[in-house]
Amino acid sequence: MQGLNEKAISTDPVIFSSAAEKNIGVAVLRLDRIHPVISGNKWFKLKYYLADAEKIPARTIISFGGPWSNHIVAVAAAGKLFSLRTIGLIRGERPQNLSATLQEAVSYGMDLHFLNRNDYRSKKLPDQMAAPGYYLIPEGGYGPFGAAGASDIFQLVTPGRYTHICCAAGTGTMAAGLINAAMPGQTTVVVNVLKNPSLKKNIDALLKSPATPWVIIPDHHFGGYAKYSGELIAFMNDFYRRTNIPSDFVYTAKLFFAVEDLVRKDFFPAGSSLLIIHSGGLQGNASLKKGTLIF
Ligand SMILES: *Cc1c(COP(=O)(O)O)cnc(C)c1O
Repeated sequence: MQGLNEKAISTDPVIFSSAAEKNIGVAVLRLDRIHPVISGNKWFKLKYYLADAEKIPARTIISFGGPWSNHIVAVAAAGKLFSLRTIGLIRGERPQNLSATLQEAVSYGMDLHFLNRNDYRSKKLPDQMAAPGYYLIPEGGYGPFGAAGASDIFQLVTPGRYTHICCAAGTGTMAAGLINAAMPGQTTVVVNVLKNPSLKKNIDALLKSPATPWVIIPDHHFGGYAKYSGELIAFMNDFYRRTNIPSDFVYTAKLFFAVEDLVRKDFFPAGSSLLIIHSGGLQGNASLKKGTLIF
């Protein structure tokens, strides 16, 4: 299996409609290049949990996720890389055919354990896993270790170069890490792509004080988790044609769409310099019908 390659991460300038005439610079931090599976922010969110598990030492990593979870497949791949056993606690009944994401997780040696929706919601661990040797990573990597890892994303960025850091948020773990690592003059712009009603509370709980400025963009979720429209798909293909940057329909397409819209609507002052975090997640596109995307 391919190792992690932080050196492959680049910062690509992109041309956004109307940004240049407003004297706004836009660059994309390509975390999607780090690894084809543990792509984007997931590696950063996992790393301190894995180090903690190693210290205990725990040999089996368990975590929760849905059938198309980028987090679950990243945990599986990290387990394979670090020779740790992994168990995915998956929402819902075991289906006839596993999703591409779960098939991939199994190919990395992950054992799957399906939980009905009530047990999943209560996050109750099966008895045999509430034992020493098992290490639970919270769903989506949410927690102080996850945020601390996400703060390390800033080590890839020239300090102070950007006025705004723009990211997509699910649990808000990455956003919290970015806000914690930002310099006082930088504003973090957090697009609530999953329409998560607890996003502000979840981020607040992980912030150091005093926090650097940040704002949630609430209206660019296209209906919520994994919802999309023809407009979003057309945007993804058009954005790829213009920039050569692939995006996923759950997170980063909504992020790029939102930032371009905000530029158009003069949300950012003239002279701003934006860094958009490409947080990876491309594997989820496999759930779309073949031929939907040109990349
Ligand atoms: C998981 C994920 C996110 C959301 O990260 P959070 O820390 O949960 O907010 C954003 N983008 C991609 C591509 C992801 O896979």
